[in-house]
Amino acid sequence: AEEVGGGDKEVVREYFTNDGFQRWKKIYGDTDDVNKVQLDIRIGHAKTVENVMQMLTDEGSLRGVTVCDAGCGTGLLSIPLAKEGAIVSASDISASMVSEAQTKAKEALQGKDDVQIPKFEVSDLESLNGKYDTVVCLDVLIHYPQIKADGMIAHLASLAENRLILSFAPKTFYYDLLKRIGELFPGPSKATRAYLHSEADIEQALRKVGWKIRKRGLTTTQFYFSRIVEAVRA
Ligand code: SAM
Repeated sequence: AEEVGGGDKEVVREYFTNDGFQRWKKIYGDTDDVNKVQLDIRIGHAKTVENVMQMLTDEGSLRGVTVCDAGCGTGLLSIPLAKEGAIVSASDISASMVSEAQTKAKEALQGKDDVQIPKFEVSDLESLNGKYDTVVCLDVLIHYPQIKADGMIAHLASLAENRLILSFAPKTFYYDLLKRIGELFPGPSKATRAYLHSEADIEQALRKVGWKIRKRGLTTTQFYFSRIVEAVRA
């Protein structure tokens, strides 16, 4: 049975503030102290960021475009967005992540012409408000069952004026992932589990709130699978 209430979210917040933060900071960093699986995930995730930047810039320059990076992690998307001239509002449920992202963004962006350092905030995406040209939410839905993902997608769509980009672990790779999941995510004693989503379910959640998928992308490496969808108003 799906969990009702704030259970998943509290577990996720705790995980990404403490143990999960330490683990993912390494994966999303550039130091050598990662194992083979972590390195594979680092490379896969970098490809996702690259795909998303390509999708966004294919539609025109990002200069002056407002972008909400919901669940920004260590800022790996926020930083290239800012480099392209976007006005970035980045947030994450984990204060540790936000503080790391802030440090990284300053290192990478301070003193650069025509670049605004992203505005960082500790917030779960469900509490975000305002309007942004573009809303992006990468590799966050994996922490939530579809029943919660529906509401998260509806909320993110309500913040977006033009486009919404989501990435998630697709159910198509269920068996592949099952075999590897022990490596990918900590066991129940340590915290979060991974939820896969079917593309049809994501598409339906978008359709329910009046959005349709315009572009699709897919990143796969040995241990990392991420479906990317770009949605616009139907
Ligand atoms: N989007 C980032 C990226 O692709 O580099 C980080 C991805 S990381 C796998 C998942 C992130 O989602 C974590 O930083 C976690 O704290 C954040 N997160 C999980 N649930 C969230 C929620 N309900 N609202 C906001 N952030 C959330």
